[in-house]
Amino acid sequence: MATTPSISTAARAKYEPIIGLEVHVQLLTASKIFCSCSTQFGAPPNTNVCPVCLGLPGALPVLNRKVVEFATLAAMALQCRINETSIFSRKNYFYPDLPKGYQISQFDKPLAELGFLVIQSANGPKRIGITRLHVEEDAGKSLHEGFAGAADSTAIDLNRSGVPLIEIVSEPDIATADEAYQYLTALKEIILYTGVSDCNMEEGSLRCDANVSVRPVGQEKFGTKAEVKNVNSFRFIKEAIEYEIERQIEVIESGGKVAQETRLYNSVEGKTYSMRSKEQAHDYRYFPEPDLLPLVVDEKWQAEIRATLPELPEARRQRMVTEYGITPQDAAVLTETRALADQFESAAKAAKNPKRVANLVQSELMGRLKAKGLDIEHSPVSMAGVAASADLVESGAISGKMLKDLYNLCFERGQDFLQVYDEAGRPEQSRDTSALEKIIEEVMAANPKQLEQYRAGKKTVIAFFVGQVMKASKGQANPQMVNELLARKLATKLNS
Ligand code: ADP
Ligand code: MG
Ligand code: ZN
Repeated sequence: MATTPSISTAARAKYEPIIGLEVHVQLLTASKIFCSCSTQFGAPPNTNVCPVCLGLPGALPVLNRKVVEFATLAAMALQCRINETSIFSRKNYFYPDLPKGYQISQFDKPLAELGFLVIQSANGPKRIGITRLHVEEDAGKSLHEGFAGAADSTAIDLNRSGVPLIEIVSEPDIATADEAYQYLTALKEIILYTGVSDCNMEEGSLRCDANVSVRPVGQEKFGTKAEVKNVNSFRFIKEAIEYEIERQIEVIESGGKVAQETRLYNSVEGKTYSMRSKEQAHDYRYFPEPDLLPLVVDEKWQAEIRATLPELPEARRQRMVTEYGITPQDAAVLTETRALADQFESAAKAAKNPKRVANLVQSELMGRLKAKGLDIEHSPVSMAGVAASADLVESGAISGKMLKDLYNLCFERGQDFLQVYDEAGRPEQSRDTSALEKIIEEVMAANPKQLEQYRAGKKTVIAFFVGQVMKASKGQANPQMVNELLARKLATKLNS
């Protein structure tokens, strides 16, 4: 939980926050960016290494073609302009886990620029600009937990050295911590749809640095920014930004100046701490990497990559609303992952009523999957099963309550719907109306006021009666039958 400094609402209202995010995303290639070492996560330390990624003298980098394709695909999904020619540069700095003493990155000529994505801000859709998307290699990892019995020692694992990354830099268009959260959520969703990364934050496949400044409302010039580094969840990033905004306002309000610095977020305390000043440091002495040719992604190659671009989440949601007559909220839930959306659509196409499929997937399937820790690809109930079960409810052959019981059996036994339905002897809900008619009579007798309202012309109370009858039948009744019988019975009451 963020423990924010106590500044007054009045002080808060005098300032406008500015936020820009730098996001590193690891690409899902099998091998590293400049050598053929594996990128596999969790391998024993220093086993996925070779002279290139160890930075041994004389070793030469060879660019992985797949990295270029993945990076370009991500850039296209983020509406960027692709630079036909981009340049790899050396970013020089010393760090124990950076054996070459420089990182191969891109600087003044990145792969892609001028993109954007759209978030749903408090004031409606808002476009957040993407300044650039460039390609670079990851550094190794320092493990400060100690090793070989020496608790105060640091070990270095170079498995990650040379793993391909893209860095996505936003424009300073983000105005609140909430918008930053929205931006990251939308960005992650788009990247996941392209399939170029798993965006797994626990494994470091997605990392975010947040640049935060505040300025007095009405002032044109940006305030001095602080950069909060390496926060490992979206929720913590939001908290860190909230904390930073308040901290900076407090500094200014009490007559101080915000320092340009790098800060770290402590999620236990909910506070950021100064890590290093940025003022004196950081001249990376970038220069073009002499061991790599300029990267050329010509029109033909760009067209080939563009042809593999999937339908993106927002466009897909809009299409699904029109195509299946579902609500935007349904569409938002059902497109949470590309796999879920694919599965839903296959069932929706096979079933008579896609809206019923949408409800069924959300109310009966997703919760049960979550409880079992399964993703949709491992659902015991296949999409053919979902479609078949939706049709059975649609035709009135089985009730909602029966469907629930059958789904419970599916999940208990790990069997698909039709198998369970067959083994249960293809049960049908009762079409015997006498029992239902009795319930209806009872419900009417118990609710004379509503009946009077109906007589007086208030036709909407019929919904009330339907609800009461369903309740009295413990969900067993066929809603279609209830509606028909009720309409008939009520009509007779009009004349009595
Ligand atoms: P640096 O050279 O310090 O890394 P950049 O100009 O590359 O700074 O910007 C890095 C990120 O910081 C970008 O996302 C950018 O939008 C954002 N940014 C730049 N200036 C500010 C500012 N004054 N306040 C907040 N964010 C900023
Ligand atoms: Mg930066
Ligand atoms: Zn290697």
